[in-house]
Amino acid sequence: MGARTSHQRVAVVGAGLAGLMAARTLQQSRDVRVTVFEKSRAPGGRAATRRDGARTFDHGAQYFTHRDARLADDMVAWREAGVIAPWNARVAARDNGTWRAANDAETRWVAVPGMRSLGEHLAQGVDVRYADTVSALRADAERWWLHTSDAQEHGPFDHVLLAMPAPQSHTLLAAHAPDFLSHVTATAMQPCIAALVELAAAPAVSWDAAFVNDDAVLAWVARNASKPSRGTAECWVLHARADWSVAQLEAEPASLVAPMLDAFNQLLDARVDVVHAVAHRWRYAIPAPVAADAPLAHYDAASALGAAGDWCAGGRVEGALLSGRALAEQLLASLVRR
Ligand SMILES: Cc1cc2nc3c(=O)[nH]c(=O)nc-3n(C[C@H](O)[C@H](O)[C@H](O)COP(=O)(O)OP(=O)(O)OC[C@H]3O[C@@H](n4cnc5c(N)ncnc54)[C@H](O)[C@@H]3O)c2cc1C
Repeated sequence: MGARTSHQRVAVVGAGLAGLMAARTLQQSRDVRVTVFEKSRAPGGRAATRRDGARTFDHGAQYFTHRDARLADDMVAWREAGVIAPWNARVAARDNGTWRAANDAETRWVAVPGMRSLGEHLAQGVDVRYADTVSALRADAERWWLHTSDAQEHGPFDHVLLAMPAPQSHTLLAAHAPDFLSHVTATAMQPCIAALVELAAAPAVSWDAAFVNDDAVLAWVARNASKPSRGTAECWVLHARADWSVAQLEAEPASLVAPMLDAFNQLLDARVDVVHAVAHRWRYAIPAPVAADAPLAHYDAASALGAAGDWCAGGRVEGALLSGRALAEQLLASLVRR
């Protein structure tokens, strides 16, 4: 695979943070041409924002933390560009019916004006084909072709990098058996049901967000308007527990709003006045933990296939960013070795 041409043509599948970091890193090489295929109509993947008139909801990733020095320069650049800002939230936690403050030394960062803004920033200058779902990969002697769900074939490409949740990558990779396939197969991901709720008025609580560690339904609630640049609509995001989300996974999302609002009312010990509420099902929300020494990404030079994503690196925004960059670096290193 990957016969040397004037340029190496790379297809990246998935315009989440991992795929966009991979694409941007590859584009730093003049020898590489990158095309990203994304099934939805916007970048960012699970670092998502739903906008509906004056309502705005970060219904996937809530915030992110920065621990790894390899992202230090990016963090400075994104902050200077106004793409991210600290979220100085009052965060509470409830355990066994007892409330406590959950503020710690770590800064909680958010993209502005919505979590999707980081993906939108990273997508600038990248050739992303939106609303293009990759349904299969086909190889001929030296090249790869991508089939999309509109029955089109795209290519040829010298390399294909998948930057999606592991089960979705597995669907495309299983027939081609790259050397890292067992890592993809082994990674389970848990779902999360989210409720996106606009209230008529702010509830009388002394916190902006809460980890709910003792409820049968809810795991996290957050007042979106407490984040910078979100507007004034009283928008809340409620995330259900993983076990409840598993049990409700095939239910009609609309039917899940009521039980989540009931749990929210119980949490607040009040009855909220709801203006608008919808549920969203994240089928692959959070990956199973990986070993600390697990590879940040997987590139198989023999097949010219690679895979990255948060599932390689801790199930968080920072892990996705690091994994995407690592995958691009592995591919570029393989070109130098040839
Ligand atoms: C409910 C929830 C809460 C979270 N909270 C936090 C948090 O507070 N802090 C934190 O750090 N992280 C959090 N996360 C995790 C964080 O969102 C992820 O770690 C990160 O966004 C993953 O990025 P990724 O690029 O690896 O994958 P994704 O964001 O999943 O990107 C994959 C992309 O691939 C696309 N795609 C999939 N299949 C195909 C296909 N066949 N063809 C084309 N495109 C395809 C998808 O549409 C998507 O855009 C949360 C996630 C969820 C769901």
